[in-house]
Amino acid sequence: MNDSLLHALRQNFQQGNSRSYAWRRQQLLNLKAALYRHEEAIYAALSADLKKSKEEAWITEIGFVLSEISYVLRHLKSWMQPQNVGTNLLNFPSKSYLLSEPLGVVLIIGPWNYPLQLVLAPLVGALAAGNCAVVKPSELAPATSAVLRQITASAFKENEVLLVEGEGAAVIPRMMEAFRFDHVFYTGSTQVGTIIYQLAAKQLVPVTLELGGKSPTVIEPDANLEVAARRIAVTKFSNAGQMCVAPDYLLVHQSVREPFVQHLKKAIDDFYVSEAVRDYHYGKVVNQRQFDRLLQYLQEGTVLYGGSYDAPTLHLSPTLLADVRPEAKVMQEEIFGPLLPVLTWSKEQEALDIIARNNNPLAFYVFTENDKKANWWMEQVPAGGGCINNVSFHLTNHNLPFGGRGNSGMGAYHGKYSFDTFSHKKGVLKTPTWFDPAFKYPPFKGKLNILKRFMR
Ligand code: NAD
Repeated sequence: MNDSLLHALRQNFQQGNSRSYAWRRQQLLNLKAALYRHEEAIYAALSADLKKSKEEAWITEIGFVLSEISYVLRHLKSWMQPQNVGTNLLNFPSKSYLLSEPLGVVLIIGPWNYPLQLVLAPLVGALAAGNCAVVKPSELAPATSAVLRQITASAFKENEVLLVEGEGAAVIPRMMEAFRFDHVFYTGSTQVGTIIYQLAAKQLVPVTLELGGKSPTVIEPDANLEVAARRIAVTKFSNAGQMCVAPDYLLVHQSVREPFVQHLKKAIDDFYVSEAVRDYHYGKVVNQRQFDRLLQYLQEGTVLYGGSYDAPTLHLSPTLLADVRPEAKVMQEEIFGPLLPVLTWSKEQEALDIIARNNNPLAFYVFTENDKKANWWMEQVPAGGGCINNVSFHLTNHNLPFGGRGNSGMGAYHGKYSFDTFSHKKGVLKTPTWFDPAFKYPPFKGKLNILKRFMR
């Protein structure tokens, strides 16, 4: 990649072209129009990369980004206004306010599992906040990467949004060393997130890290088991389980394990056909490496349901695993596939001990009809976000921040949180000149009492 393209972004930003409300709004409208123009091409690309159906592609990728754009367009003007805050007595009669300043040129790095949404949703926030951006989609979803190239080329000038393709390990470190970005927004594995953080630290570049993790789901004995099973099944096996906030494993109260597993099997039967490869609604594993990794997990427990696969097409059917030891690999690594270990507990502490082996998950879910219990679980388990009687849908609410903590990342986005992530909050104090008391100036001798009155 030619470094002069990066400097053109910087120059464009420094000329102030991206600051106005009109520019920001226009970029968002351009992106929206380009998404509609390329709708069919996006379906084809997501089908080629991950065998996503059109409906799934709309809900989790195209429609997701469009609704983020609509929400931002509705609120952007008010978010851009200076925000008045109170002023302390020492500064009387000043006024104080916050200015949201664009950061500059930001780098957005995306993964392969939602290859369109996970670069464009952050881009919406970056543009709304008045930044220029470099977008790096995952090379492991090459068809979507190619469509993103067309979308960005048709929606933006190269000195506004620049799309960079290629193998991350080759392209990203070189780019981050040659050019100082003003922010890096990374979505992907914890392992690569660590590399990005180190690269950014060399030039003191702030980062948002949206990483993975093992998200637990607790089933209490009083849960609505049928609804729980349906909500878990639809999310866990969507995109063949390759979802950062999918339930990674279940912690089912011993007393309801049998009926719950029956409901879960029925939900899977209702939603999918038995031969995954023929199922219009069921995705494939992204590549051979991930497929081989998932097949190894099958050896680490008893298959309660599913377990069949078709190696040439990288299909692995929705699978429930029992008798999994907490020390097994499948309980140490993020599964990121259509395998769901079903573990049991009889005392809460047993479940908490299992969760603590992989602390700070990206999400935590609990199913119970009892508010007290729900609150108790939410307080016990530190996690990026979570749901009560639901899974993953917290990320579809624009009013909730989406992000991890600890191993699952840092920072958050969606809606206003994206605008804030890509803005600097400049605190400004404005002091009139008509009042200029002498006690604020030297000589200070003899003024201690009055100073004490203003500052204590
Ligand atoms: P990945 O880390 O392999 O790749 C993500 C990006 O990093 C790609 O664009 C790739 O080109 C780049 N990259 C790869 N190796 C690199 C290197 N050595 N140096 C610099 N850049 C490099 O991640 P993935 O496998 O694409 O995604 C899967 C992971 O992402 C899972 O752990 C999942 O939980 C996580 N994820 C998190 C979220 C979230 O919102 N928190 C969303 C989706 C996926």
